Amino acid sequence: MSQTLSSKEFVASFKQSIAARAEACRQGGVAPTLAVVLVGEKPDSVAYQRSAIKRAQALGVDVREYNLPEASTTAEVQAALREINEDAAIHGCLLLRPMPAHIDDAAVCETLAVHKDSDGITTASMGGVFANNGVGFAPCTPSACLHLLDAYGISVEGKKVAVVGRSLVVGRPLALMLLHRNATVTVCHSRTPQLAEVTRQADIVITATGRAKAYGPQFFREGQIVLDVGTNFDENGMLCGDVDFDAVAPVVAAITPVPGGIGGITTCALMDHVVVAAERAGGKAASL
Ligand code: NDP
Repeated sequence: MSQTLSSKEFVASFKQSIAARAEACRQGGVAPTLAVVLVGEKPDSVAYQRSAIKRAQALGVDVREYNLPEASTTAEVQAALREINEDAAIHGCLLLRPMPAHIDDAAVCETLAVHKDSDGITTASMGGVFANNGVGFAPCTPSACLHLLDAYGISVEGKKVAVVGRSLVVGRPLALMLLHRNATVTVCHSRTPQLAEVTRQADIVITATGRAKAYGPQFFREGQIVLDVGTNFDENGMLCGDVDFDAVAPVVAAITPVPGGIGGITTCALMDHVVVAAERAGGKAASL
């Protein structure tokens, strides 16, 4: 039977360290502050907004809520982001997406200042991930994957890694971040032929496709490590990953569960980025 790569213990220690660093910032005169911007009332976004606010408050990160009406124009959302950019007391920003269809997503994202871009949504932050030059922040989910690998002491150096999914928020930045760690990365997507042959050749497989339990044992072999980023609901309305956990766990060496894997680390990664930005703004207690 394989090892279950639960994030529970890591999340507990990560939270402790973020809370301690947030407190040190406060002692240094800077209260780490996250702006949460929500346009409209899409239920998924409202749920994520609530959980992010709860997590922030539990870790000592202050929150400024920007709740804009569904009918807001692109210019009005941009104006809110400019206000955030100009407010020195705000260190990071979470913009809940997708926004209503009439809003120009790219134009809004580009308005955010790169040093407040806690979830890596601007082209400047993406460039920072591409160049690996420390500009901006990486998106939180790929960051969460690396945190989990580190927590279990799993090195990707020299390993073959198959990343299934190439979105701008998960697959693509993750592939680059693994490349910077000297992995040999294959990025797979909906047009990849013979996907199972590609995934079976990898040492590590990371799925981020949004297809509930789509990847069964035929996609894997013994000895592999599997990270499942998928956050989906199965036919019974239960949260599940992209991988059919029950069928695949007996085959591979180690696998993340859903829930209890990558998802739990993602909101912590967001708070970590806000605290890093606050530290950069000078909020570090002299004793630390
Ligand atoms: P997107 O829909 O933006 O991208 C999905 C990717 O999967 C695309 O690149 C797509 O390929 C690829 N794909 C779709 N079907 C197949 C297929 N049959 N074979 C191979 N590849 C396929 O999704 P996201 O990247 O935003 O999210 C992916 C999953 O991760 C979702 O379940 C989401 O809920 C979850 N997620 C979890 C987070 C967490 O914190 N744990 C945070 C963010 C996302 P193509 O480009 O060719 O269309």
